[in-house]
Amino acid sequence: MRFIEPHAHMVSRTTDDYLSLATAGCEAVCEPAFWAGFDRGSVEGFRDYFCQLTDHEPRRAAKFGLPHFAWLCFNPKESEDLKLAGEVIALLPEFLDRPNVLGIGEIGLNRNSRNELKVFEQQVDLAARCRQLILVHTPHLEDKLKGTRLIIDAIKSDRRINPARVIIDHVEEHTVELALEAGFWAGITLYPESKCTAARAIDMIEKYGPERLWMNSACDWGVSVPLAVPRAALEMRRRGHSAGAVDRMLHGNPLKFLGQSPKFKLAQG
Ligand SMILES: [Zn+2]
Repeated sequence: MRFIEPHAHMVSRTTDDYLSLATAGCEAVCEPAFWAGFDRGSVEGFRDYFCQLTDHEPRRAAKFGLPHFAWLCFNPKESEDLKLAGEVIALLPEFLDRPNVLGIGEIGLNRNSRNELKVFEQQVDLAARCRQLILVHTPHLEDKLKGTRLIIDAIKSDRRINPARVIIDHVEEHTVELALEAGFWAGITLYPESKCTAARAIDMIEKYGPERLWMNSACDWGVSVPLAVPRAALEMRRRGHSAGAVDRMLHGNPLKFLGQSPKFKLAQG
């Protein structure tokens, strides 16, 4: 089996996790910028984090033969501090040219507040001006449907953005169709406690087809499983999906979306 892990927060994982990913057939790992589990106090905290994602973490991954890619942004959860948001967004352009940076993400909404939406739109604007791919985080549970609608409306109203260059992540049964119908890619996040199980993910794949869908583990500092994607592949096989269908979902699809960035290359070249 081979796969690409398109959404993993490796700065919060151990070297054992890298080893497990590499031995399970992972060919690349992609890491969006996100909330650290606590609010950062200053723009310098973000500068250090962006250096970690673009310098230190790729070197750590390389020790296991894994290419490491990053998405950079100011995350939705800290967006109530508009002054800090402005400072961090102003800092982003100097990092976007780094060799492992694929685009702006994971931007989005957390509580669907006015300030979050404002900061989201500023970062969509930055992505448009700098011609970057976009990875979108959608809110949890009861806020997800409304938040997904707000996000899709905001991106659609910016005519510079091609939806084929945007992935709406953490979709669930009630939001996946919204994202796909609007022309976006959609990411299904496999979590043991919240978000989606493998069985639910495969139900969605069977219902909507494999076009413009990927699965990710979004493993981070919380309860999450770095090998959730290859485990979902086992479930696909158990349910009768062919090896080719599994390969398309785990490898072909992420490669197609991420390959829109000329920087995205697999180890095998
Ligand atoms: Zn994430």
